Amino acid sequence: MLNHKDYSKLDTNELKEHYEVLNEKYDGYLSQNLSLDMSRGKPSAEQLELSKEMLNIVSTHDDLHAEDGSDCLNYGVIDGIPEAKRFFSNMLGVSTKEIIIGGNSSLNMMFDAISRAMLQGVYGGAANWGKAPIKFICPTPGYDRHFAICEFFNIEMILVDLTHEGPDMDTVEDLVRADDSIKGIWCVPKYSNPEGITYSDQIVDRLASMDTKAKDFRIFWDDAYTVHHLTNTPDPLKNILTACKEAGHADRVFMFSSTSKITFPGAGVAVLAASEDNLNFIRKQISIQTIGPDKINQLRHVRFLRDLDHLKLHMEKHAAIIKPKFDLVLNKFESELGGKNIAFWNKPNGGYFISLNTLDGCAQAVVSMAAKAGVKLTNAGATFPYGQDPRDRNIRIAPTYPSLTELETAIEVLCLCVQLVSINKFLI
Ligand code: PLP
Repeated sequence: MLNHKDYSKLDTNELKEHYEVLNEKYDGYLSQNLSLDMSRGKPSAEQLELSKEMLNIVSTHDDLHAEDGSDCLNYGVIDGIPEAKRFFSNMLGVSTKEIIIGGNSSLNMMFDAISRAMLQGVYGGAANWGKAPIKFICPTPGYDRHFAICEFFNIEMILVDLTHEGPDMDTVEDLVRADDSIKGIWCVPKYSNPEGITYSDQIVDRLASMDTKAKDFRIFWDDAYTVHHLTNTPDPLKNILTACKEAGHADRVFMFSSTSKITFPGAGVAVLAASEDNLNFIRKQISIQTIGPDKINQLRHVRFLRDLDHLKLHMEKHAAIIKPKFDLVLNKFESELGGKNIAFWNKPNGGYFISLNTLDGCAQAVVSMAAKAGVKLTNAGATFPYGQDPRDRNIRIAPTYPSLTELETAIEVLCLCVQLVSINKFLI
């Protein structure tokens, strides 16, 4: 049978024959009027259930004061209650002086950080970033909303390949050494979106120590998936703030994270960590923007998540729900696409995504063919700046939200589409 044959080695007749068989199956799905959505990395209802108890933790009967006596119902405490600072600084491996607790969204904190820099510059910078055209390095494939922020602020994006251990540092180093309009780089250092890779120690060290022509260069370190492991042997990630300090560039990094995929994406807690000098500068600006964030939510989170040991147990419950979904996708890829030389994918140890690469020039056709059969995937190209994948091959798979049954059907349809579009490519 043709089941595991390398498609590139099949002759025209074999390809046509195989196309007929697969197309018949695809037609079968067309008639089912499916409506499956795998487009965004959202926790499932079952995962949200894991944290619902948190909503009962803070009630009228409870003491609603933080441990320093601040009334969480009232104004104030611009950068977070002490117990929240302690919890999140432990999570990120920074000191309590190196963290600001924000609202519910780390993306919001990233947007605000760039917005402030555009208007007022960053600590130690000579001018505001908005004064002249600036650029950001965007390791790709990457997170579409990072790129959207750059587009919003008219920041030119420079694509750099993401390797299995982080950005292609030879290119990054050459770029930042030569051009002082390059002010930043986006990094999702752990279980990256969408590749699922974790930066190696060497990459972290090179980012921390590289020479940058812009003295006000910043690494936007979006550690969204820092505790989101799928196995008992988590990927290690070197501490970037420590590495930056050791390299004499303590102010180079802004770290971000949140509990969006620990508790609730709509009602979590987000944080920004950085050097004390950076934070002193930022705190003054934030205090113009707000009289203080939602401290009740901080209190709830700390009382619910308690400490790192408890957080680990909580994340194991998430993993127990989502690991079978990742396994299902990976097993289906292997059984339907394995050995055919038409698609390539990675096996992440954590995070929320599986990145699938088709043959060059096939991703858009696959995504629209799947959509026609009622399976909505993330737009092809979304993982690249301006929505344009230069090789039109990357498709981001978000397996967490659908049920196992829905996922199975959706991946079957996807695999059929990959095969059909690939055969078409060979037949041209
Ligand atoms: N950063 C990355 C890499 C993400 O994948 C996501 C959500 O998918 C976010 C940030 C959003 O974070 P938040 O919900 O804290 O705004």
